[in-house]
Amino acid sequence: IAAVAAAERAEIALVRLLPCIFPPLQTYSEEERMMRDSVRKYAQERIAPLVSKMDEESEMDKDVLKSLFEQGLMGIEIEPEYGGTGSTFFSSILVIEELAKVDPSVAVLCDIQNTLINTLFASLGTAAQKELYLSRLSTDVIGSFCLSESEAGSDAFSLKTRAEKHKDYYVINGSKMWISNAEHAGVFLVMANVDPSAGYKGITCFIVDRDTEGLEICKKENKLGLRASSTCPLNFDNVKVPEKNILGQVGQGYKYAIGMLNGGRIGIAAQMLGLAQGCFDHAIPYTRQRSQFGKRIFDFQGMQHQIAHVATQIEAARLLTYNAARLKEAGRPFIKEACMAKYFSAEIATLTTSKCIEWMGGVGFTKDYPIEKYYRDCKIGTIYEGTTNVQLSTMAKIIDKEFDQ
Ligand SMILES: Cc1cc2nc3c(=O)[nH]c(=O)nc-3n(C[C@H](O)[C@H](O)[C@H](O)COP(=O)(O)OP(=O)(O)OC[C@H]3O[C@@H](n4cnc5c(N)ncnc54)[C@H](O)[C@@H]3O)c2cc1C
Repeated sequence: IAAVAAAERAEIALVRLLPCIFPPLQTYSEEERMMRDSVRKYAQERIAPLVSKMDEESEMDKDVLKSLFEQGLMGIEIEPEYGGTGSTFFSSILVIEELAKVDPSVAVLCDIQNTLINTLFASLGTAAQKELYLSRLSTDVIGSFCLSESEAGSDAFSLKTRAEKHKDYYVINGSKMWISNAEHAGVFLVMANVDPSAGYKGITCFIVDRDTEGLEICKKENKLGLRASSTCPLNFDNVKVPEKNILGQVGQGYKYAIGMLNGGRIGIAAQMLGLAQGCFDHAIPYTRQRSQFGKRIFDFQGMQHQIAHVATQIEAARLLTYNAARLKEAGRPFIKEACMAKYFSAEIATLTTSKCIEWMGGVGFTKDYPIEKYYRDCKIGTIYEGTTNVQLSTMAKIIDKEFDQ
């Protein structure tokens, strides 16, 4: 009897401990909570007043760029020895979500810098490359990731940009399309093929500084949404790059690109999640204040069911996104979960923004409220860093393999 009682006591103690061992997904460390709260405040105070103007003028405000660096948001995971914030991947995800609630264009700037550019330099850079670039990326230099070309989108590794070896340097010729943040970038990570006969195994990652002769940053695209984020074609006309500017190993660029984009997708999921939440947060107060037929439009059951449905979808997107981020941070397999998070969050952003316009009636359709901008901005979530079809194909491949075992 004593042994059974002791076992029961032990079980009760264990059950009490479970919430600590398996905390709910929306549990944050003290540092993560502080980061989220301070970015929330910063975005409201410094970015929100400029969002509409930046969208209208298709131009990122210089003060916003400067303040992102001052807040330590462009080098979130970079070690303090290089001037970075020394925080975590999960913190980056929270930051992207918070920024996207206010402006998805600012969020993608921060997302690409942190999840793609800084990560590539930190994981592959030589001591000299890290010293030079990480310290600049965390203080005043924006980086762009250059993979896509006019004929190489979803089929990215069929890229045609060529890097020809000469003594101790390479000469790059070709062009890139759709390069985010190129208007303001100081450094470009360029995927070029050094040996087309080897197919994608010739793809190599080069560090190209903005002022390198022969690099032309062309006129930015006039886009449906994400208008404050510049998206430019690039031309490479005999761009001479020293051998020491290869990032990582020759011929391994395709692996680096795949690896980075796997993690990057969680960043885009966070962007779409923040966008959906930001839009919802603008629309609901309107439905609580607007009256028709003598009562708040929020009080109609037809409205309530739609609102509750959308709120559930946003919550599900958040759980998928946080789970993928926690898996990555724990060093566990996360590719399928990252694709799911990106795919689902993009779908939910589309649903939420469309519904919010409907809930606000005519005024939701005007530029007097920010809803129509969220509606335009969300469409990119199904396209970049792998289209929705590409996410679904990757998930299906993994699911197929899982059933081999
Ligand atoms: C605003 C913006 C910013 C971007 N930023 C960057 C950046 O910073 N750096 C960068 O390198 N690139 C960037 N891109 C490029 C982006 O990653 C590509 O647009 C994307 O990968 C899709 O390529 P695509 O546009 O050529 O479309 P395509 O590949 O031509 O796809 C068109 C359609 O065909 C479908 N499709 C294609 N292949 C298949 C298949 N095998 N099975 C099923 N369906 C398929 C797609 O899902 C899609 O619906 C950006 C694009 C935009 C619009």
